Amino acid sequence: MSALDFTHDAAAHSWVASASGSDFPIQSLPFAVFRRAGEAFRGGAAIGDQILDLAALAKSGAVHDVLAQQALAACTQPALNDYFALGPPAWRALRHALFVLLRSDAAPATVAAVRACLVPQADAQYTLPTRIGNYTDFYTSYFHADNIGRLFSAANDVVPANFHWVPLAYHGRASSVVISGTAVRRPLGQAKPPDAAQPRLGPCAMLDYEIELGLFVGTGNALGTPVPLRDSEQHLFGICLLNDWSARDIQGWEMQPLGPFQAKNFSTSISPWIVTMDALAPYRTPWSRDAKWPQPLVYLDTPANREQGAIDIQLETWLESGPRRARGAGPVRIAKTSFRHQHWTAAQMLAHHTVGGCNLLAGDLLGSGTISGPTAGEAGAMMELTQAGRTPLRFDRGDGEIEQRAFLADGDAVIFRGWCEKPGFARIGFGECRGEVLPALPLAAVGVGG
Ligand code: MN
Repeated sequence: MSALDFTHDAAAHSWVASASGSDFPIQSLPFAVFRRAGEAFRGGAAIGDQILDLAALAKSGAVHDVLAQQALAACTQPALNDYFALGPPAWRALRHALFVLLRSDAAPATVAAVRACLVPQADAQYTLPTRIGNYTDFYTSYFHADNIGRLFSAANDVVPANFHWVPLAYHGRASSVVISGTAVRRPLGQAKPPDAAQPRLGPCAMLDYEIELGLFVGTGNALGTPVPLRDSEQHLFGICLLNDWSARDIQGWEMQPLGPFQAKNFSTSISPWIVTMDALAPYRTPWSRDAKWPQPLVYLDTPANREQGAIDIQLETWLESGPRRARGAGPVRIAKTSFRHQHWTAAQMLAHHTVGGCNLLAGDLLGSGTISGPTAGEAGAMMELTQAGRTPLRFDRGDGEIEQRAFLADGDAVIFRGWCEKPGFARIGFGECRGEVLPALPLAAVGVGG
């Protein structure tokens, strides 16, 4: 796991005035792919409300370390796969170089050269940070599995026995992963109400979100060569926010007996900024498993994973309805949780993914699975918050009247925020992951009626 070094010093400040106290202080330095309208996409690092344009920086000659130069050259491309493939020493060399260039004690000539490479985030358009070859979505929150299970069963233990042994996942759809800010169209699909004789085709009536983290694979592994748990974090580049949009009515009908298909493949949103594993080093926490549950098999258990395999990433879900937006009332917070509650760590997910020989590629995306905590207010999906719609959310419409939501309505925007904080260290944020729901297409789009 990443070690602490001078880049985690809470006393360090940047000459970029907006950095300290923002989501992106000098201790964070997350990566994205961006452009201004009309320009080519390239890599950037966030600092305060600015982006350090890594293509411009490569041209500036301000970076002298050879490994950092090599890393920087890879960041000038419109996708960061080649940069991710370089591995931890190159990632760390570039992080160290950026930190020194942006630190308050940089020489005036350095500050002038680097300042010329800054682009305001307000002017930026973002795209996916990598060409995502593969997307796998896990199911690793005990509390999520328990909440969902209880909606459909009165049994004592509703979580399947394999949940404690296997970091469960399905292979998702990489082609429909979209960057934050992209609108998400309510899907058409098949659903069968319990009392109906046969299914119907129509717009999803139970549209939901799932708050997750996106884990980006850095260096891949060769087909047939598993990655042992002790090495698996070396293959992770960093983490972003991820919304696994879910059509619950379609899911309920199609997932018998196979995994999610149309219920999930219409869109998955990710936040533009990837916070590196190095930046997350201070916020590691012990990982443990309650003694009442089975402990992991040996290949999913190491002392290092138990000592600091979990990460305390605080997460919030906000909902901005169309009526609230129209009145300028802004979003309401509907849940709050942390990644530290997860039943499996990121390292365990990656190790298990490869145990049978499956090869991960640089730039692949793993979803953590819905992140729910132990209490009702920590639920990671609307399905849990509203008990499958039986207890709708109620919130002020922005004019004193009450709006209700059993599931998402057209015009609703779902916004995720995340951050890490710990005494003695800077607070670092993830920015936000946002998506607004568009109405479904008319049935004529699939050749029905009209
Ligand atoms: Mn999911």
